[in-house]
Amino acid sequence: MNDRGEALPVALEHTQRWLASLDDRPVPPQAQVEELVERLGASLPEGPTDAGAVIDHLATALEPGLTAMPSGRFYGMVIGGAHPAALAADWLVSAWDQNAGLARLTPAATATERVAGAWLLDLLGLPAGSAVGFVTGGTMANFTCLASGRDEVLRRVGWDVSAHGLTGSPRVRVLVGAERHDTVDLALRYLGLGAPEPVPADEEGRLDAGALALALEQYDGPTIVCLQAGNVHSGAYDPFGEAIEVARRRGAWVHVDGAFGLFAAAAPAYRHLAEGVEGADSWATDAHKTLNVPYDCGIAVVRDPAAVTAAMGMHGDYLIHDDAGDPLERVPELSRRARSIPVYAVLAAHGRQGTADLVARLAGHAAAFARGIAELPGAEVLNEVVFTQVCVSFGDDDRTRGVVERLLADGEAWMSGSVWRGRAVLRISVSNWSTTESDVRRSLRALERAVASD
Ligand SMILES: *Cc1c(COP(=O)(O)O)cnc(C)c1O
Repeated sequence: MNDRGEALPVALEHTQRWLASLDDRPVPPQAQVEELVERLGASLPEGPTDAGAVIDHLATALEPGLTAMPSGRFYGMVIGGAHPAALAADWLVSAWDQNAGLARLTPAATATERVAGAWLLDLLGLPAGSAVGFVTGGTMANFTCLASGRDEVLRRVGWDVSAHGLTGSPRVRVLVGAERHDTVDLALRYLGLGAPEPVPADEEGRLDAGALALALEQYDGPTIVCLQAGNVHSGAYDPFGEAIEVARRRGAWVHVDGAFGLFAAAAPAYRHLAEGVEGADSWATDAHKTLNVPYDCGIAVVRDPAAVTAAMGMHGDYLIHDDAGDPLERVPELSRRARSIPVYAVLAAHGRQGTADLVARLAGHAAAFARGIAELPGAEVLNEVVFTQVCVSFGDDDRTRGVVERLLADGEAWMSGSVWRGRAVLRISVSNWSTTESDVRRSLRALERAVASD
């Protein structure tokens, strides 16, 4: 009656079947929402069902509606897989069921945050002693960092946001590259800062540092500059050295959105892309992209721990606070899972060299895609493939959209369509640890079929 783990063997069996299917199953889902709703069952059961039977039904009902996102042939959006060490660690997180907010409540999760956080700073070349917060993703990492920046630039002009809010505050000007990620705008909206002012970008989507310098001249009040490490279309990096220097000279807070691209800094052969990035005030990245932990895990890094604590810290009389500080002071949530544990596991499994190899392998596969695609009739790779992203046109927009549609219908690989620089494109993002050279060849053949059946 009290076997807390009674359903786990059933989950293990379904999990192993799912993982074993990834190499051969079609990547797209085979059933759509309406059918899956039917399969789940329309009405709430009146009485109890055995936990194992529920798990068996759930897994069987949903199986056809799963997309093989952890497959080595999924290249949509920017989506990592789940590395074996991270996947198993994530199971422990659920079984241990720690509320990760308070050090004295969970020394285990707090210690793991400290170690995994320090390892990340080391690998990414960011200042030791920066605050590291484990959040749901890049969006909330941007939010956490930009909240710290907003409050700090206002504090410097004598305005206390936590006491007075934003009503009547001095204006905070936010400058972003024209091709920043849309979630930067979303985070700014959550923060009550409105739409940012775009600074022109070049043909790869890199912010123009000269234009930034000119824009900064126009206002000497509180300013935030948001840069990008890894453009979702081109993979390009903003010119950090120059941009950070001009921004800092004007007293601006500099934030870097490096959701997937910040990890270039962990690989000697790609570190030059992120050169100078360590000069910023805050950095957002994702562990569920390049680092390949299961959803969800983003990382918010703030150089000055006092700035993030001022923005995110809270006190409750019933909470047992630790004098040395608590993990909840670095993130928006109070209660949350112990996300640092899978991060620790994947970093320990790879080590410094393995992490560098992972990054180099992803970027190497992207380069192989670009070479293979250049051979296809009418195909044109539109970006300089500097990292893990490839953007392709197959002539006019209708033809490109047709290729994307036929590729998805073929089922061998998943690549998504987008619009970049005013043109329809096929986007490839190589972000999964398990992608092999054979996956790249199979996917190129699928693309060749999609082009040929035009
Ligand atoms: C994915 C991404 C984000 C958003 O991250 P989520 O983890 O999806 O919230 C932000 N910026 C960039 C550059 C991204 O690629």
